[in-house]
Amino acid sequence: MTDKYLVEGSENELTTKTAAELAGLIHSREVTSREVTQAHLDRIAAVDGDIHAFLHVGQEEALKAAEDVDKRLDAGEAPASALAGVPLALKDVFTTTDAPTTAASKMLEGYMSPYDATVTKKIREAGIPILGKTNMDEFAMGSSTENSAYGPTHNPWDLERTAGGSGGGSSAALAAGQAPLAIGTDTGGSIRQPAALTNTVGVKPTYGTVSRYGLIACASSLDQGGPTARTVLDTALLHEVIAGHDAFDATSVDRPVAPVVQAAREGANGDLKGVKVGVVKQFDREGYQPGVMEAFHAAVDQLRSQGAEIVEVDCPHFDDALAAYYLILPCEVSSNLARFDGMRYGLRAGDDGTRSADEVMAYTRAQGFGPEVKRRIILGTYALSVGYYDAYYLQAQRVRTLIAQDFAKAYEKVDILVSPTTPTTAFKLGEKVTDPLEMYNFDLCTLPLNLAGLAGMSLPSGLASDTGLPVGLQLMAPAFQDDRLYRVGAAFEAGRK
Ligand code: GLN
Repeated sequence: MTDKYLVEGSENELTTKTAAELAGLIHSREVTSREVTQAHLDRIAAVDGDIHAFLHVGQEEALKAAEDVDKRLDAGEAPASALAGVPLALKDVFTTTDAPTTAASKMLEGYMSPYDATVTKKIREAGIPILGKTNMDEFAMGSSTENSAYGPTHNPWDLERTAGGSGGGSSAALAAGQAPLAIGTDTGGSIRQPAALTNTVGVKPTYGTVSRYGLIACASSLDQGGPTARTVLDTALLHEVIAGHDAFDATSVDRPVAPVVQAAREGANGDLKGVKVGVVKQFDREGYQPGVMEAFHAAVDQLRSQGAEIVEVDCPHFDDALAAYYLILPCEVSSNLARFDGMRYGLRAGDDGTRSADEVMAYTRAQGFGPEVKRRIILGTYALSVGYYDAYYLQAQRVRTLIAQDFAKAYEKVDILVSPTTPTTAFKLGEKVTDPLEMYNFDLCTLPLNLAGLAGMSLPSGLASDTGLPVGLQLMAPAFQDDRLYRVGAAFEAGRK
């Protein structure tokens, strides 16, 4: 156990506080945003050599944003948001004009975007200093950050283990006290899964409620940005900063943001009377790590003791989610990543006057993409080709509909569904890299939610008795009912204390 890497081991107590606490201190002028931001930059300098949560640290820009908040507050202005002055780590898949955006790919090494993503813009407008850009699997494909072209992130709980993926950097930064807030994206679990492995909270909002404008696309029908933090309330506060309709995103939904902060505050009384919780039968089975199942059953018992009614729910098509996801995703990837052609963005390789434009494109893509990205582009291109489209892509879309129907049927009986977030606790770096199927299997519990476009949370539910590592509890709510995650999540969190 490497305690000095966990938030409790921070040398400065400002890096151990929650975002809500920090906001309170900053807004009442007991500390400055500059002090809080500097404390986190110092923590990054102290531990990131070992953890590698960050691909880029924007020291000057972060301090400048912090000073701006301080100046406004000192002049008597109201805080720009509930989190004004509290710094954040941004997954390196959202564009930023003042820092490179690489999606952890060689293809975009050093790439500077001409515009800020909507999420980035909202963060800036809320007065939240951006500490830097966090590590991830290349183009968000992977479950361990080992597909990053810049080397993996190490889990602060055990440096030899993965912090999860694709957003391992964001979650590791939270667990290590390098940032009190972080942004991730969740296409098949990339927010919830790293949250589970690092004992932090991560939310995948309902599809269409957080803008994808300026989010480098992996699979457009599945991708969704979301908030992560160390507590349910902090996650809710960040959720309200980044959610909302955006005319620049054609799939953005024009409806009010679910009242997630209010729900988190209400849930904190720990009372779950009247709440019907469904345990998904397909994810409550032998074969998962015993320590994970033990923690999960203890979590269900706790929910019951807090007043929730527990019902077993059958979602038979969840068993087919993995196969459907790993067809739909590569299909969308093969189309989305066609834009990286060596002509328009980032890397251009082999353009030495001897090659035609087509050859330069092929050469650039061979040099610029890592093996997992290539694997998915090839698989997706194959599955979309004439003759195979019906058998693979269309069939997978049918399964997707069946999964959505399983959810709809379940929500006729219950308010919210629960399962373990992952089948095991954090695995060792290197353990699954040579076996893609093993890696894909790790996403088993998180994928159905993305296929149906619903809202999910992972939150800490104790340490596994067999490995001593964190276990995540997954909550799954119907579309646009994201507040249910926070109500039940905050109650569960309160009940654990
Ligand atoms: N691990 C999944 C994959 O590799 C999910 C990734 C994600 O959510 N971005 O596709």
